[in-house]
Amino acid sequence: MSRYSIGIDLGGTNLRAAAIDENGNLLKKISGSTPVTEGPEAEIADMVHAARLLRDEFGRDGLAGIGAGVPGNIDMSAGVVVRWGNVPSFTGYPTRDELSKQLNTPVILENDANAAAIGEHWMGAGRGMDDFILLTLGTGIGGGIIHDGNIVRGHIGMAGELGHITVVPNGNPCGCGNRGCVEKHAAAPAIAAMAQLLRLGDNLSAQDVEILAEKGDERALTIWGSMGEHLGIALAILINIFNARMYLIGGGVSGAWPYFAPAMFAEIERRSMTYRLTKASTHIERATLGGEAGLYGAARLPLLGNAI
Ligand SMILES: [Zn+2]
Repeated sequence: MSRYSIGIDLGGTNLRAAAIDENGNLLKKISGSTPVTEGPEAEIADMVHAARLLRDEFGRDGLAGIGAGVPGNIDMSAGVVVRWGNVPSFTGYPTRDELSKQLNTPVILENDANAAAIGEHWMGAGRGMDDFILLTLGTGIGGGIIHDGNIVRGHIGMAGELGHITVVPNGNPCGCGNRGCVEKHAAAPAIAAMAQLLRLGDNLSAQDVEILAEKGDERALTIWGSMGEHLGIALAILINIFNARMYLIGGGVSGAWPYFAPAMFAEIERRSMTYRLTKASTHIERATLGGEAGLYGAARLPLLGNAI
């Protein structure tokens, strides 16, 4: 049997784990049951249980290692989460070493959006692309930068915090301490907040606003237009900095692409000279792996063996 690895994606609610072989074939995927809010010890136990189930099925011999994608700011060399906004109990907890000790297998800890970019590079829309940038739009906006075929990590692993690019100087306050971060103007909670403000309905989710846009609701279309503008400002900044060949938009909110993309492209065109000069060879499109990107990327890490 070929070599394989186990990827774990620790999301905002609970975990998913998959055994994926070195050719990118997903062998099996399972979900955990412990909410992350129960704290690191309970969550580690859940991760260990999931990894053991997969390892028992596919064997110890071919296992290259375990990669774990975790939200928040990661110190890769220490293998700890430095800051995870909604789940402070993980802060400083030796997540990587505890997992590695309990499983007696090498473990690599990575930011979940970086893992998603690595996944798209390996098996998704970024295949064969040595330079691209991924933005994942969900409850926040995650970012991953692939340059010369490698993920850009910065000096301890915190590079790519693209959701915190300022797009409105004195805009909505963000948990990071800044105001007007793109994730506060273009991620799912911002869409829901705009729907509330425009009295579109009670407690509508971003997905509800997408459905209303599909039906042609003018106010819903206005909301997506505003979201597209803010996303476009962030992309124009990224294009000016990186001149990458490709920019991928993933995450649950990216499904509303038909409603926000026109405003997004208009804003990029208006604000980025680099884009206007390179439009024919610059690709801005949707990511293709959906929710699986982070799993693929996490699994790819031990196979690459290039952790900090
Ligand atoms: Zn922020």
